[in-house]
Amino acid sequence: MQIISVENVSYSYDKQNMAIKNVSFSVQRGEYVSIIGHNGSGKSTIARLLNALIKPDEGEVTVDGLSSLDKKNLFEIRKRVGVVFQNPDNQLVASIVEDDVAFGPENLGVPREEIGERIEFALSAVGMTEFRKSSPVRLSGGQKQRIAIAGVLALKPDVLVLDESTAMLDPRGRKEVLDVVEKLNKEQGVTVISITHYMEETVRADRVLVMDGGELILQGCPQEIFAKKDVLTAIGLEIPPAMRIAEKLVARGVPLPSGILTEERLGEELCKL
Ligand code: ADP
Ligand code: MG
Repeated sequence: MQIISVENVSYSYDKQNMAIKNVSFSVQRGEYVSIIGHNGSGKSTIARLLNALIKPDEGEVTVDGLSSLDKKNLFEIRKRVGVVFQNPDNQLVASIVEDDVAFGPENLGVPREEIGERIEFALSAVGMTEFRKSSPVRLSGGQKQRIAIAGVLALKPDVLVLDESTAMLDPRGRKEVLDVVEKLNKEQGVTVISITHYMEETVRADRVLVMDGGELILQGCPQEIFAKKDVLTAIGLEIPPAMRIAEKLVARGVPLPSGILTEERLGEELCKL
């Protein structure tokens, strides 16, 4: 079932430049979609369109059948689409972890007794229950982002949008966050839209959308996308480093175990969808 539909959407912040040009895609409930593109390609603009922070100049965005063009839908859309941003330090508002997670539901007017349950659910979903009484300032970057994700989960969104939420983290923090997001998608059925400029992060997605200059230029499962190396290189993106290394090893005659993806093997791999 479709949860998000973006139909022929264009958006400009100013008259000279179009940030998004006639973009169309849809997202199914429970899907894990990655959006990749270099700086300025329009990724964050899409995130803002999805949770109705901005509305299309042309075309239409609907979430669960609700159009963001209709003002009376905005509150419902924002409840359904939770966004986690890049900088964890800008997203945490309280001095105790559990108060931070409670902030969103309290603002939505969720009853007191239900807030406790939501904090418990959200912290356990991101594996941070033991930090409930901690101060966010003492946490690592990865842990802070997991708290930011818990804050969004406490709102019980249908769709979790991560806008470069791993960009400021070290490799360990990135893995922590990605593992939590993958678990939420697989085990809780949360629809995930993960925006990134790290090609290797898109490996986890069911489907990858490639943005360039405000246009959606490619979409497909990760294998299909990585196979278009020439297109990716032309717009300044690269296939994942692990795949490049695997290819170099093959070129030197080192046998690779099955399951490791190289360009040669791509043709044989089937998409999950
Ligand atoms: P990305 O997230 O892929 O880096 P953005 O969606 O932030 O891309 O930006 C797309 C285009 O819109 C860029 O040309 C950028 O300069 C422009 N843009 C983004 N935010 C604003 C803003 N608040 N005001 C004016 N222009 C903006
Ligand atoms: Mg951005």
